[in-house]
Formats: sequence, structure tokens, C-alpha cells
Amino acid sequence: MIEFKNVTKVFKGGKKAVDNVNISFEKGEFVCFIGTSGSGKTTTMRMLNRMIEPTSGQILIDGKDISKQDPVQLRRGIGYVIQNIGLMPHMTIRENIVMVPKLLKWPEEERNRIAEKFIDLVELPREMLDRYPSQLSGGQQQRIGVVRALAADQDLILMDEPFGALDPITRESLQDLVKELQEKMGKTIVFVTHDMDEAIKLANRILIMDDGKAIQFDTPSSILKNPANEFVENLIGEERLMQARQEETTVEQVMLRAAISITPEKSISEAIKLMREKRVDTLLVVDGTGVLKGFIDVEDINRNRRSATSVGDIIHHEVFFVRKDSYLRDTLQRILKRGLKYVP
Ligand code: ADP
Ligand code: MG
Repeated sequence: MIEFKNVTKVFKGGKKAVDNVNISFEKGEFVCFIGTSGSGKTTTMRMLNRMIEPTSGQILIDGKDISKQDPVQLRRGIGYVIQNIGLMPHMTIRENIVMVPKLLKWPEEERNRIAEKFIDLVELPREMLDRYPSQLSGGQQQRIGVVRALAADQDLILMDEPFGALDPITRESLQDLVKELQEKMGKTIVFVTHDMDEAIKLANRILIMDDGKAIQFDTPSSILKNPANEFVENLIGEERLMQARQEETTVEQVMLRAAISITPEKSISEAIKLMREKRVDTLLVVDGTGVLKGFIDVEDINRNRRSATSVGDIIHHEVFFVRKDSYLRDTLQRILKRGLKYVP
């Protein structure tokens, strides 16, 4: 777990870059810091690996105050990726990828295995391992940089606008890569960006900063639905707010669909009639405990009507009813909030 407790940073000259920040998040989270330029994102992040020391307040990692730890030791356990990825020009890609494992004196065989595994992961040809950074495009270099950070034996990785200078296509493919690897490897990532789309795509929690203050710290969907103030609204932008509101309507519609009561015993023709009447095209399949088991649409029912007499026949005799009750609502809300997709 990572905790900022009343963390403030005042630079020499009096600029309060970070103003009493209180946030905490868990291992394995992908946290994005977002805000306008100069809002204190980089300073907040750099205090995590003690490149910058807070003026007051405490930062704890796993309950331990980092100000009491040796900064060199601390930094060894924390990856750091910046915009200019800083591949070593005189080292091959292979040497660059396994820089940290080498430092940790892992055997060569193991290092080669890692280098190959990761070059495969980023879908670059293995021949590239023996080339030098200057022989790769900017996007390819950044790919290697991301991989190097993730390949290292570090659970926490700080990334400061790592994709800021890349073209949109490379940028998107790197976003996919970092998200995929983060999920696979369970790393904790703190990622600074000023791009809301990037934050929404990557983060499971977003910290919104303005003038050194932590304005809002929440999941992307909560921020979209309930922006804390006008500043956050502006940061989100009109278009995304409208979209979020539309998604809200979709949730309402799903709820409405839930308002119709059909049991497995109901005959197919009756069910279809009822669905038409209520202008419902999808039914939610819920078992007796209120757990959502799936969706069934009117097409499914129509397609199967010849081989079935009751609705229950179509869904293979699973306990099935669709109704408006708190069980169902809660289950649905939970599912939608977590952005989970139903997997049959
Ligand atoms: P961001 O990453 O959100 O753009 P920073 O954390 O880099 O913002 O900076 C926050 C504020 O602190 C800015 O006003 C910046 O000018 C100031 N600042 C950053 N680093 C220093 C420093 N070393 N000395 C003095 N002021 C600084
Ligand atoms: Mg910055």
C-alpha cells in the first residue's frame, strides 16, 4: 500500500508545488495523476522515490516511512520511465532490457531468457536484440523502454508522461502494451499524464491535481459521473461529459428492462408479447439469489421458439426471472460500476 499523509512541498523561492496531499492506494493499482502543466504532478510522483523530499508530511510504502529508508536502496525497488526514455546508446537493446537484472547479478542465461521473452511480448523481431537504440525508431525505442521498466524486478513503476512525444498510433499501442503487462504482472504503476483520454483508458484510479492540491481521487467512471468541481468538468471536457451522461441513460434503460417480470415457466409467445408491450428487447437472467447470470435477447427467444415451449427451455432450465427488485439492482450496479463484462 502507498500512502501520502498531509504531503506538502514548498520549493526554494516559496512556490508551493504540492499542497497537503492525502491519498492512498493499493499494490497492483494503476493510478494516473492528471492536471494542467505546473499543477504538481511530477513533484508528487518524484517524492515517491525521494528524488524530491517533502517539506512536510509523510509518505509510506507498505506502512514504512520512506524518509527513514536509504534513498538509493529505495530507488532500486522503484522503476522510473520518463518521456525521453533514455536507452543507453552504447548498449544493445538486449543489454538495455536486462540492465537491472544484470545489476542484480542474475546469470546470463536467465537474462537472455528475459530479453527474448520481452522482445516477443512487444512483438518486435528477436534480431533487434543485438541492434543499438539509434537503429530503432522513436516508437520502438519507447517500447523497449517500457518493457525494460516492466522487465525489471520492481513492483512499483513511476511513469512521467512517457508517451507524450509519440504519434497517436504508436502512443495507443504503447498504452495497450503497458496496460496489458501491468495486469499480467500485477505491478503498481503511477502514471503522470495531462491527457484525459489516456488517464481514462489506463487508470483504475485517477488523481486530479490543480495548483498543488489533490482535487479528486476516484475511479474514472466516478469522476466522469460526479466531477468534484468546475475545474474537473473542464478537464473532462464537454464531449466526454455528454458521453458519460448518455452511458448513464443506458444504465437506466437496463434498469427499465429489469422492470419486467418473466419467469422460466412463462410460455414463449406470452414472453414475446410482454416484451413487445413493454418495448423490452433484452432480458436479464438472474438466479434465485439475485446473481446476474446473463442476458437473453428477443432474437434468442425467436430463434429458439420452435424447439422450446417455455422461456426456461431456452435458457437450459436455469433459475430465471427478471424483475425489479433491490437484489437485481444492486447486482447490476455492482457489475456496471466495476466495468465488468458478463462472461457466460
Ligand atoms: P507538473 O508535473 O504538474 O507540470 P511540477 O510538479 O513539475 O508540475 O511543478 C509544480 C510547480 O512547482 C510548478 O509551478 C513548477 O514551476 C514548480 N517547480 C517544479 N520544480 C521546481 C524546482 N526544482 N524549483 C522550484 N520550483 C519548481
Ligand atoms: Mg510534469
